Amino acid sequence: MTAFPHSADRAPAPVRAEALEALLTERGLVNAAAIDGLINRFVNDVGPMNGAQVVAKAWVDPEYRERLLTDGTAAVGELGFSGPQGEHIVVVENDDTTHNVVVCTLCSCYPWPLLGLPPNWYKDPAYRARIVREPRVLLSEMGLDLGDDVDITVRDSSAENRYFVLPKRPDGTEDMSEEELAGLVTREAMVGVARVSAP
Ligand code: FE
Repeated sequence: MTAFPHSADRAPAPVRAEALEALLTERGLVNAAAIDGLINRFVNDVGPMNGAQVVAKAWVDPEYRERLLTDGTAAVGELGFSGPQGEHIVVVENDDTTHNVVVCTLCSCYPWPLLGLPPNWYKDPAYRARIVREPRVLLSEMGLDLGDDVDITVRDSSAENRYFVLPKRPDGTEDMSEEELAGLVTREAMVGVARVSAP
């Protein structure tokens, strides 16, 4: 038995979501305009740039980094990032020998206020299965080759723990400002399928 079947006889997710929205609207349980507003906000106003600001601040401010690793939700809230799917943020730090990569094996839990809506590859059943089974191989296929001296920890996000990766600050960026540093940080690095590179 699987908790999240993807059998071929079921309609595709967008069709099912539309049917669900229509039903809930008809019953007066949700408001279509409110849903449009929410989607619009996460697609257009929120994006990985919020998370990049958090990372850059942690790189230049050791006390903020400490707070971020201790209580992620409170620390990102200091920068004004909160809201749906932003509860229970757990921040894990990557360095030269420790590498964290995030997945939601059950569905697609993701820190929306920091990274916007999850990309398709994150929701792909193949990513969700293989990153657990063979993380080193899959990361390599995604362009990240980690040596055997690097320990990989796969973090399974859920509604109780929504993981966010604090990537390593690249060497050679000592003279860069916080704003410039934020410009280097990618969504992929904050999920842990990439590292941040110096310009
Ligand atoms: Fe999930």
